[in-house]
Amino acid sequence: MVILELRDVWAGIEGKTILKGVNLVVKEGEIAALMGPNGSGKSTTAQVIMGHPKYTVEKGDILLDGESILGLSPDARAKRGLFLAFQYPVEISGVTMANFLRRAYLSVHGESTRKLSVSEFHKLLVENFKLLQMDESFAKRYLNEGFSGGEKKRSEIVQLATLSPRIAILDETDSGLDIDSVKIVADSIKRINEDKGTGFLVITHYARILNYLKPDVVHVMYDGRVIASGGFELAEELERKGYAALNTI
Ligand code: ADP
Ligand code: MG
Repeated sequence: MVILELRDVWAGIEGKTILKGVNLVVKEGEIAALMGPNGSGKSTTAQVIMGHPKYTVEKGDILLDGESILGLSPDARAKRGLFLAFQYPVEISGVTMANFLRRAYLSVHGESTRKLSVSEFHKLLVENFKLLQMDESFAKRYLNEGFSGGEKKRSEIVQLATLSPRIAILDETDSGLDIDSVKIVADSIKRINEDKGTGFLVITHYARILNYLKPDVVHVMYDGRVIASGGFELAEELERKGYAALNTI
């Protein structure tokens, strides 16, 4: 049942240790939230799970289906079903969203039986743009170029819905979104979770998106460790008291 597990993960960048023994589990079909103050190591955790080459895992293990993935490249991890929506989505000039998504889809699912014809793929894209309430003309635009902050974040979720990973990590996808967009993003996450059983690790600062999502579990990170885990009430408590109260949890 457990799919993604971090076991006592110590990791750093350029000789500086940032994660100091992270223990974390994301189960199949679960929506988990990861909260914590700026600089506590949330984005580092996301990058280390995906295998970003800039980070070094010093100790511990990351397992998918009980098997270590530490030796796998980011591409191989994506093929195994991991997906990361970036805190700062990149713009790619000259590559349309449709082409980007098609190539990403083939790269992740190419060898599997889930190959789709061009017209089936187009149908999938149209559905996913609709899910995120984006006009399908975005498919013809260059990836994220000239997109507003909110459109960039929604385009990341279109990508997620198209690739249909087993575990999706969203790094502050709700930051900078207006209230309507937060609801659209949250509704889409719930739909993907319910329809496809995708497990989510939602990194966020705000209880607002979690109010819509009603996560199964909330984890709190502080100084490179997960120091508390609990139900939604933990997010509400943090919203009320602030992270300064963490040492009382
Ligand atoms: P969060 O996402 O929780 O805000 P991060 O994982 O981005 O935290 O960062 C954790 C800590 O690692 C911060 O103190 C940050 O300054 C440090 N850090 C991140 N990237 C680098 C880097 N390239 N070089 C040195 N320190 C870094
Ligand atoms: Mg961050």
